[in-house]
Amino acid sequence: MTRNEKKILTAVSRYGPLTRRELGQKARISWSTTVKMVARLEAAGFLRQVGVSQRRNVQGRDSAVYDLSDSMPLALGIDIEYATTRVLLTNLKDDVLHTEAYPTPQVQTMEELADFASGLVQPFLGLQGRGTRQIAGAGVVLPAFLIRSGGNPFAVLQQRLQERLPVAVRVDDVVRAYTLYKERRLYTSESFIMLTVRSGIGVGISLNGHLFRGDDNLAGELSHVVMDPNGSPCPRCGNRGCFETLINENVLYERYTGVVSAPLPDHADYDSTGLRAGLSDLFGRAARGEAAAAAIVAEAAETLARGLAILLNVLDVSRVYMAGHFGRDGQVLVPRIEEALARYLTPMVSRRIAYEPLQDLGFPLGACLLILRDYCDYEID
Ligand SMILES: [Zn+2]
Repeated sequence: MTRNEKKILTAVSRYGPLTRRELGQKARISWSTTVKMVARLEAAGFLRQVGVSQRRNVQGRDSAVYDLSDSMPLALGIDIEYATTRVLLTNLKDDVLHTEAYPTPQVQTMEELADFASGLVQPFLGLQGRGTRQIAGAGVVLPAFLIRSGGNPFAVLQQRLQERLPVAVRVDDVVRAYTLYKERRLYTSESFIMLTVRSGIGVGISLNGHLFRGDDNLAGELSHVVMDPNGSPCPRCGNRGCFETLINENVLYERYTGVVSAPLPDHADYDSTGLRAGLSDLFGRAARGEAAAAAIVAEAAETLARGLAILLNVLDVSRVYMAGHFGRDGQVLVPRIEEALARYLTPMVSRRIAYEPLQDLGFPLGACLLILRDYCDYEID
């Protein structure tokens, strides 16, 4: 795929069905090149004519409107989380064509993990009567600490999976996938930090419209920065008092059960609907001004602000998108975090915090973008 072809697909993805004239203007490509590229993309199945524009151009011709194909290319996203693995099939239109969830097995090695993940592909595609030849590739994402092995977990798993699967495989961190998903929706070259609060804390960094990965693909690992050396042990990395042991969904839920005097469920993991309902209730109570709930939220905001202040001071990125399973009332965190940040940040650093409920499909959709960006480059300005 050439850069101009990518620019055309990206323009349709961003603005919807367009005539060739409009496409050329949006993609900033000359008319003759646009005509050539559109013909090539249509012949290859990436674009299709979907109708005729009512907007006549000066020549009164060129009114055919082009849209992205529904099935060319297709990408598979595999989002491996601690408890559940979600597989999703999508196209360049971002349609969720099919998705399934599977329990993540307790695996000890990358070999076992690669066996599990690669074993999902054929049966999943078979459910829709498809095979690996119909997909452009598979994006696989996992938390960096899912398996504590030597070496870069993403590179190791990518190699293991590539040995097992006949399609292109790219492996990355879950929160970086979510950051790609967010970039895809923002279409902006404005730098931002994506912060997700689940059973751990995830940080993705988008600098000037490009995902920043770092040398070892571990950029943004705020979650395991030690904030309190005397704190509780971190089950994931083995240190004590990591940032994510101070604030996460389970910590919040435990405090919430004190507010409503409810017993903890047996398995307080992020998949639990009980946990999400409880967190929504907690933030709802805080929004309505209930003192005990508001105190929990204020403490969470203080902790989040301490972590965010490190990132904001170091990176000088002013925009933060925060997502969690806190329901709509999670908004109450924003003014409290801003107030705390005002105390932690150097005075000249500006910040804009936004909260939104976490979209769980954002992780596998972001995984698909690891493949689809070969066709449609959301980072092209
Ligand atoms: Zn840790």
